[in-house]
Amino acid sequence: MDKKFVISLIGAPASGKGYIASSLIEVLTQRYGFSLGDIVSISVGAMIRQEIKAQSELGKKLAANMKEGGLAPDSIINEMLSDLFERLKAKVLILDGYPRTVGQVKEFDKLVAKYNSAVIFRDTPVDLILERVKNRRICEKCGMAHEVSDGQCSCGGRLIKRKDDEVLPERLAEYEQMTKPAVLELKEENHNFFWYEGTAEGKDIARDFLRANEQYLR
Ligand SMILES: [Zn+2]
Repeated sequence: MDKKFVISLIGAPASGKGYIASSLIEVLTQRYGFSLGDIVSISVGAMIRQEIKAQSELGKKLAANMKEGGLAPDSIINEMLSDLFERLKAKVLILDGYPRTVGQVKEFDKLVAKYNSAVIFRDTPVDLILERVKNRRICEKCGMAHEVSDGQCSCGGRLIKRKDDEVLPERLAEYEQMTKPAVLELKEENHNFFWYEGTAEGKDIARDFLRANEQYLR
């Protein structure tokens, strides 16, 4: 591969992006001969939290900005990703949840200009996501996942809602308002854009997508 291949994975919160990412890794290693060291999966949200926690220069800038009530500025995030992309030895970079605003789409264009890139969008209706997580609980004691809304865990622990499920309606509203327009922008700009139904199986998405992008994997 003469250039790194950047895969941007976009979809609503709780729409199963993590599962698509792990399916991509599985197919890349099993069918295309990549090693695990060749692939890296990057969650931009987790990266921001890490920088803030480590109190790096960048982290301080981000924290100051968020204290004023703003989202992390797009240009700072882009700078962070651009440094990371250069540093990484991996050949395939999977970006989870980026770009997620129209402003970030502009930065994204600059970011991937020197690489090969593609966008996977999974279009899951918000109603379906809410329905899916409505009866999802975890055990307070052992953390085991349960598909029921009451009762208790086999370990005796109480079943509670996941922290991120509690704020899911707000996150979904933000997604509709901020991320959907960004998706349309990406599609219209004629990026190497792949659209999948919310009901599509993660493994099928991974296989189909990689087959369509084989030229970037050689
Ligand atoms: Zn338990």
